[in-house]
Amino acid sequence: MTATLEPTAGTDAPTETFDSLNPATGDVVGTHPIASKADVDAAVARARDTADWWGNLSFDERAEYLLTWRSVLTRRIAQLAELSHRETGKPHGDAQLEIVLAIDHIAWAAKHAKKVLGPHKVKSGLLMANQAATVEYRSLGVVGVIGPWNYPVFTPMGSIAYALAAGNTVVFKPSEYTPGVGQWLADSLTEVVHGRAVLQVVTGLGETGNALCTSGVDKLAFTGSGRTGKKVMAACAENLTPVIIEAGGKDSLIVDEDANLTKAAEAALWGGMSNAGQTCIGTERVYVHERVFDSFMTEILSQAKGLRAGADSGAKIGPITMPSQIDVIRTHIDDAIDKGAHVALGGKDAVGDRFVQPTILTHVPEDSVGMTEETFGPTLAINPVASMDEAVELTNATSYGLAGAVFSKKRGMEIAKRIRSGMTSVNSVIAFAGVPTLPFGGVGESGFGRIHGPDGLKEFTYAKAITRQKYRPPMLLTSFARDPKTDARVASLITLLHGGKKTIK
Ligand code: NAD
Repeated sequence: MTATLEPTAGTDAPTETFDSLNPATGDVVGTHPIASKADVDAAVARARDTADWWGNLSFDERAEYLLTWRSVLTRRIAQLAELSHRETGKPHGDAQLEIVLAIDHIAWAAKHAKKVLGPHKVKSGLLMANQAATVEYRSLGVVGVIGPWNYPVFTPMGSIAYALAAGNTVVFKPSEYTPGVGQWLADSLTEVVHGRAVLQVVTGLGETGNALCTSGVDKLAFTGSGRTGKKVMAACAENLTPVIIEAGGKDSLIVDEDANLTKAAEAALWGGMSNAGQTCIGTERVYVHERVFDSFMTEILSQAKGLRAGADSGAKIGPITMPSQIDVIRTHIDDAIDKGAHVALGGKDAVGDRFVQPTILTHVPEDSVGMTEETFGPTLAINPVASMDEAVELTNATSYGLAGAVFSKKRGMEIAKRIRSGMTSVNSVIAFAGVPTLPFGGVGESGFGRIHGPDGLKEFTYAKAITRQKYRPPMLLTSFARDPKTDARVASLITLLHGGKKTIK
């Protein structure tokens, strides 16, 4: 990513632009404008105008547009995957996989918005028996989405698809490393909605993101690092704009003594190394019961044979997308080794200029920076534990709390429930991300708010409660005409309803 000043055609004023680069080669993939505060405000104003039309469509009408968009993405999947491959460096198959998941989410959000958000009756209770009570979830208006580069389709789509299905229009600021993918997504939906500003993209760097935060959008969904998340919250506070923060993680995979070690090793290897380890819900730490530790290591090292990073078609791991991350990965590996970690694969020499070769360290001191901070590289820290209690304790000894995995035949669910994180897979990794009905999000420094599923739809709405009086109440409570006799009857009624000594079963 490099920034330059380019004159805008037909005007004297130069428009600042920046290039997105192919991280495997350094080649320019595309040149994009740096949207100014005025550009962002104009996009939000257009989105607000369009929100009237989009928000007043019926759920079925919106679903039809979104399902058409889903079909367009599906038919052009190779084109989008190729662009993502060029901007992120990830292998074509991996780029396709995240689009597949995103397509499934669009379809789910479109098909379920009516049932989840539409008006429904709720019980009004004995005291208010004369009232008919209904609740429905109304669109907020304009939603701002700020996305990262590591999954440039799947990650922002978790907010975009759900916000749109709920009746909002969206202004999306993609990462400066993947602006082309963001623009492609907006262009494809704009085609489907006949040029209306339902989903717009503003490209640029952090300042453009900041302009979106202060633009007066009705909600801001941010996915990225916790460091930036704090700036986003501070900027949004100016207008009391509510935020969702989907930030980083330091997820662990726990292997119990009765686990299927072949499957656990396969999952740990893929969870840690796929997408060159640049996955918020990727596996960074592995805790293995000491009774099976040696067998697990034999298995994972055997499976890791031949796995390598490179730009050729035989390489299953791509480059590190963001050049500055190379130094972070190097520091984490060096610190762990300097503090006494054993090198099982890769190591200090694994870190190159653009690529990092798979690295597996064991007996990594828990206070090394690679155990406490997000590494975001193709590395795994694998430590033996004496019990599953210890595995849970170490897993939870982090300021993050995004996701995780457990491999156990007998105790998987029990261990999963004890992990302080938003999502856990038992006997698989990352499976929850592909289940559209499940909420996605974290706790602690991994952020707050939920995308995906019914929770994800409601996240982009406000609840609207209505009571409708069906008949005059036998006791008029909300009137100055209420007399002492009514007060006494109310007191008797509430004693009858709630005054008894009940044991909760
Ligand atoms: P980042 O925080 O550097 O950037 C994210 C986005 O914020 C980019 O679009 C960037 O331009 C924008 N930005 C930068 N400064 C800003 C500012 N002051 N105001 C507003 N916007 C600003 O993160 P990244 O490097 O692009 O992404 C990697 C991080 O994202 C990792 O920590 C990863 O774990 C996390 N992530 C989390 C999830 C999740 O769902 N929890 C998913 C994917 C990635």
